Amino acid sequence: MDLLKRLCETPGISGYEERVQEVIREELTKVADEVKIDKLGNVIGIKKAKKIPANSSIPKKVMLAAHMDEIGFMVSSVDKDGFLHFAPVGGFDPKTLIAQRVVVHGREDIGGVIGSKPIHILEEEERKKVPQLRDLFIDVGLKKEEVLKMVKPGDFVTLDRNFKELNNKIITAKALDDRVGVYVMIETLKQLKEYAVDIYAVATVQEEVGLRGATVSSFSIEPNVGIALDVTIASDIPGTKEEEVVTTLGGGTAISLMDSHTISNRKVVDFLRNIAEEYKIKYQTDVLLGGGTDAGAIQRSKSGVPVCTVSVPTRYVHSVVEMCHKEDVENSIALMTKFLEKVHQGEF
Ligand SMILES: [Zn+2]
Repeated sequence: MDLLKRLCETPGISGYEERVQEVIREELTKVADEVKIDKLGNVIGIKKAKKIPANSSIPKKVMLAAHMDEIGFMVSSVDKDGFLHFAPVGGFDPKTLIAQRVVVHGREDIGGVIGSKPIHILEEEERKKVPQLRDLFIDVGLKKEEVLKMVKPGDFVTLDRNFKELNNKIITAKALDDRVGVYVMIETLKQLKEYAVDIYAVATVQEEVGLRGATVSSFSIEPNVGIALDVTIASDIPGTKEEEVVTTLGGGTAISLMDSHTISNRKVVDFLRNIAEEYKIKYQTDVLLGGGTDAGAIQRSKSGVPVCTVSVPTRYVHSVVEMCHKEDVENSIALMTKFLEKVHQGEF
């Protein structure tokens, strides 16, 4: 899990992915035949087919996509008292942001706290309201002149949050969405032995702001089939009705049937499901009404691509601390490894 820890703790919001991009480039270089970075910043690891399948002259192209960007903020202004105001990059749940430590990536990294009015001076009515982003600011504890030496509008801000295992099964961190998907992708390439397809493992940029990295990379790759590796909602928590539970933590890797961007290709779903059954890989299926993945962009590229998403069920997605189960991560790697070893047989 050392690599997952490093991936989660390295900063990189949508559009400013350079630092995490470098970690991924380094790791993919160890496992891929070739690694490229395109103009938008997508890191593409290519593994060429080890054998050409019978009755075919060229191997199929399989695209995996896991997004490297995390949600965060951009500094929009510094006020007269040195407080930073910010714009969201991707959709944090604002009620989870109050009193969180952050890192402002200015001329150098400086620490800050997301401040709000203390409860002691809130009006009765204000106490009842759910906080909005515009009510929040970043306090770095310095006067304006000192702040301006280090910070300027456009600098990006991430959470200051360590990766922590709660016990030998549960992981908590920031940005598990979707560094855990990147981790699954890299570990799958490590475990893979025989495969008869060309694999394009893409760590995409700017997923959280509209699937932008996957849009351009799928156009250049022109895959025959695409799988997005992401997180899905584990909503098995108090206050959720039974029928609202999308997936459960520890319930296995999740094969997506539908989300708000994509209806998964039925043949690809069945192929994944059959592999899970055959190799006794614990899995669940998910139907997610809010949110989507890079699969939505891959599916719509060129003349269309059959796609599906394979996810790690995650609690508290888009909050300041997300939670995954190690066995779900392992089952996702196992499913993807077998999928790549067999996908040349798929009729799609
Ligand atoms: Zn995601």
